[in-house]
Amino acid sequence: MNSGILETAKSDLDRNGFLDIAVDPKLDLFVEIEKLKKEKNAVILAHYYQEPDIQDIADYIGDSLGLAQEAQKTNADMIVFAGVHFMAETAKILNPTKKVVIPDFKAGCSLSDSCPPPLFQKFKEQHPDHVVVSYINCSAGIKALSDVIVTSSNARVIVESFPKDQKIIFAPDKNLGAYINKVTGRDMLLWNGACMVHEIFSLEKITRLKHQHPEAKLIAHPECEEPLLRMADYIGSTTGLLKYTREDDATAYIVATETGILHQMEKASPEKTFIPAPPDNSCACNDCPHMKRNTLEKLYLCMKYEMPDIIMDETLRLAAKKPIDRMLEISAAAGL
Ligand code: SF4
Repeated sequence: MNSGILETAKSDLDRNGFLDIAVDPKLDLFVEIEKLKKEKNAVILAHYYQEPDIQDIADYIGDSLGLAQEAQKTNADMIVFAGVHFMAETAKILNPTKKVVIPDFKAGCSLSDSCPPPLFQKFKEQHPDHVVVSYINCSAGIKALSDVIVTSSNARVIVESFPKDQKIIFAPDKNLGAYINKVTGRDMLLWNGACMVHEIFSLEKITRLKHQHPEAKLIAHPECEEPLLRMADYIGSTTGLLKYTREDDATAYIVATETGILHQMEKASPEKTFIPAPPDNSCACNDCPHMKRNTLEKLYLCMKYEMPDIIMDETLRLAAKKPIDRMLEISAAAGL
């Protein structure tokens, strides 16, 4: 490779979010990535919302809780995080001495962006008698302002670990917070944030789909809005939804979450039919544009050149680690 091209790509990294270098189309990227894994003692952790090729080359595929647990116990020297920025940040918080790379640094999250730390700090100061429970889909700055982190797999258990009369702020997802309020009977104060993917499902189109497929069950992620959750036959985290479709005896499901999870559902239950719940726009399915910034080419490049990587201020890292450790301890004690 011409070193000038690499230098230009590196200097454009901030603007592009990834190394913009042409990859030889004759390369078998699956073979090359496997080689790089061995050479660099690297592990690829991928979220269920990644494209199928990335899921197929990953060493571990999971939701936020599974990925955080895997990041905590890995012996690899380099963690390649195929997900969005706050997830790679969480891996770095847990592994300060390891290199954590991400295929596209600009793979962000609308939910995380809906809760800027300076505004949240002011909100928190207005409610000094509240503890702060934050969903893992937030920046390190918000984690550092929290008492405990939760994922959709463990939110209920963790909220219930507080005494009934403890006042709680829940951030940043108002839909997940409202759902947890409902199932626990709590009255947590909710930050007004939401995920763009889970908020745009069309109730009208889903109702039509239910009529067309009366045998199909509607399953939904708790980041979806209340009216949709009320229609659902099952509500659960991404891992919970996958497990449900594996163990349940229905033959078809309308899946109200990001479409990436359908790849694992179809692999686990090839005899069943999975229909992505449609959004309220002209698309047939609901992709997260942030998650889908990552591609196999960008994954290969970030492993080869070990960039972009996550760099974090140590004071911030230590403050953000405390509530994550607390989550992992409560989850382990609850057998999650
Ligand atoms: S699906 Fe929603 S919460 Fe998940 S990364 Fe995309 S925008 Fe964020």
